[in-house]
Amino acid sequence: MKILIIEDEPGIAKFLKQGLEEESYAVQLSEDGTHGLETALENHFDLILLDWMLPGLSGLDVCIRFRKQNQQTPIIFITAKDTVSDTISGLKSGANDYIKKPFHFEELLERIRVQLRPLSGEHDVFKLGDIILNVSTHQVYRGYQEIQLTQKEFALLEYLLRHKGEVCRRSRIIESVWEIHFDYSTSVIDVFMNSLRKKLGLSKSEDYIQTIRGIGYIAKEP
Ligand code: CA
Repeated sequence: MKILIIEDEPGIAKFLKQGLEEESYAVQLSEDGTHGLETALENHFDLILLDWMLPGLSGLDVCIRFRKQNQQTPIIFITAKDTVSDTISGLKSGANDYIKKPFHFEELLERIRVQLRPLSGEHDVFKLGDIILNVSTHQVYRGYQEIQLTQKEFALLEYLLRHKGEVCRRSRIIESVWEIHFDYSTSVIDVFMNSLRKKLGLSKSEDYIQTIRGIGYIAKEP
């Protein structure tokens, strides 16, 4: 796995490079935004660690321009900027995660592993548009963003994805997900479905999961 570090502080860059190499990652360093962006666009990396305050282009600009080129490589911001609005603009720019200086190297490693997991896990992985559900790791991603679901929401989404393209009757979903014979007229399934759609960030125009009135639901590729 290849990681690009774009970081202008030599101490931090060296510390990161050494630590990641000890974990068997191949690491390339870049010390400014402009050069970092060029390097990221000209080579393949599995992940990019991006400092926020950089000479040349800022980390934020690097991220925005990189994504404009339709590049999907996961990006983790490493930065002292820690206000809520900075976090939001970082994530809105297309970054996948955000870690604040000072941080524990172990925490960074874990965040890197989370971002790389969708690439390495091949078994029991179901996809719907940019939604990825991994049964073995019990994780759900929309794009590279991990979505935290409750057990029931996860089971519901798993059921729909396993039956992608088929009409899933409410009674069948309830039997499978709740494993008991509920009164099928209960609204429990609607409540969970609403919550699931909300957590996945599915807007009305993104009808990955369509409601079939009085019958059930269908998961369809957009
Ligand atoms: Ca910096």
